[in-house]
Amino acid sequence: MAYVINDNCVACGTCQAGCPADAITEGDKYSIDPDVCISCGTCAENCPADAIYED
Ligand code: SF4
Repeated sequence: MAYVINDNCVACGTCQAGCPADAITEGDKYSIDPDVCISCGTCAENCPADAIYED
């Protein structure tokens, strides 16, 4: 299962900087490519808006 980013995202970029798989894409809200995510959980731990969870 991959991690997903919900509407609480404030587009700070913290998750993208820490992703070891380069699975996160920048935008108005950031998004995670489920085919690339290795479900390590690093982004969820680092997110200051608590916007990332395992789906
Ligand atoms: Fe990247 Fe890990 Fe978050 Fe997946 S769970 S998007 S691999 S930091």
